[in-house]
Amino acid sequence: MKVHTLVHACVLTSITTLTAQQPAPQTTAIRAGRLVDPEAGTVSANQVILVQNGRISAVGANLAIPQGAEIIDLSKLTVLPGLVDAHNHLALTYKEVPENNLYYLTYVMESTPLRAIQAVSNGIQMLSSGFTIVRDMGNNGNYADTALRVGIEQGWVPGPTIINSGIIIGAMGGQFFPTPEMAKDHSIVYPEYLDADTPDEIVKAVRQNMLFGAKVIKICADCKPWGYSVDDIKLVASEAAKAGLKVEAHCQTVDGVRRAIEGGVWSIAHDSGMTEENHRLMAQKGVWRAGTETPISLTGHTTQQRYGNSVKMLKNAYDLKVPLTFSTDADYWVQGKTRGEVAIEFIETWKAAGIPAPAILRAMTTNGYKVSGTEKTRGPIKTGLAADLIAVDGNPLESIDALRRVSFVMKDGTVFKRDGVVTPEKFFNPGPVNGWRIR
Ligand SMILES: [Zn+2]
Repeated sequence: MKVHTLVHACVLTSITTLTAQQPAPQTTAIRAGRLVDPEAGTVSANQVILVQNGRISAVGANLAIPQGAEIIDLSKLTVLPGLVDAHNHLALTYKEVPENNLYYLTYVMESTPLRAIQAVSNGIQMLSSGFTIVRDMGNNGNYADTALRVGIEQGWVPGPTIINSGIIIGAMGGQFFPTPEMAKDHSIVYPEYLDADTPDEIVKAVRQNMLFGAKVIKICADCKPWGYSVDDIKLVASEAAKAGLKVEAHCQTVDGVRRAIEGGVWSIAHDSGMTEENHRLMAQKGVWRAGTETPISLTGHTTQQRYGNSVKMLKNAYDLKVPLTFSTDADYWVQGKTRGEVAIEFIETWKAAGIPAPAILRAMTTNGYKVSGTEKTRGPIKTGLAADLIAVDGNPLESIDALRRVSFVMKDGTVFKRDGVVTPEKFFNPGPVNGWRIR
């Protein structure tokens, strides 16, 4: 009976929707003093961007602004598409106190629900710095990353578009070094890692992540000496492909990177296993590089030696035309900085590598959309795409430091930040306004 009543109500609702007069959609018109196209590396003066129903409906110099449109005047600013951090962990924030910056302790001391709340805050902080897309690559407790993505997509809270990996899949132990009693009696590796050693376990682990809302699959290729073989990685990739998902491999050794490339991964995280030879293979096969190059200015999070290697290998990758993404792995608290300010600090490594500002901007935008798989739906400021855009003083094609001061942010057509102040009221809703079926 209950089912029958529900169906009846639904039918009534859809009839009402079909016959009711639809009001004309509200148009927002943005006047952009300068509009950057990062793909082309060009700037156009005095452009108008029209936004309807969360999407860009027109872009051009001499567009007629419809009557009644809300006008946003950014004529003194430079407008550009949103930024992408291709590797972060928003439901993880390790700290000097109490855990001495060891996330191994963070996940013992902080529950998944608390970390999910931290993730919402971190997402808001990333969006305030202009990051409209974040690839969230695991180490998020028991699927706090999926909760964050769904919460944002359903319309409960503001935040970047999240491309989340669920739980990192690794051979026994993941990145941890547990005691036998903690590992065997208390399964302490879980839920930061899914132990998957045999082909059956690998298939099951990939399916578990897909079932629980992952949009990309993350593996540890070589976190342990036993790691994954080329065939193991091929198996991960083919299972993930059944749901249209790509694979990112965490690699920390030269051989791990080589196996990941041969196994057919989409992207490789971290730079300690990068060599000129591996770079040549990545360029040839079009494997994305998410090098997570920590700047020396984030004291305590890299060493002079590691930083020197990061700069050298980032330059090498750029020279060899490896597909580059801007990726931070900025999963810790730096006193006095928001999470977004920590992430933007990573431009320092790119500048030190001598990479020109237009190429850095391309890594942070165009390439970010491609590695996220959103380039046809979200990212570029083009008609029909989601209305995500930011504005800054100055010109980031001349000085990438312009991105340190994002004064305006629009996400899905709604203003999130204006005149340097976050004004998120319109993003907070008493229900799943975009639909509860989003999973
Ligand atoms: Zn990471």
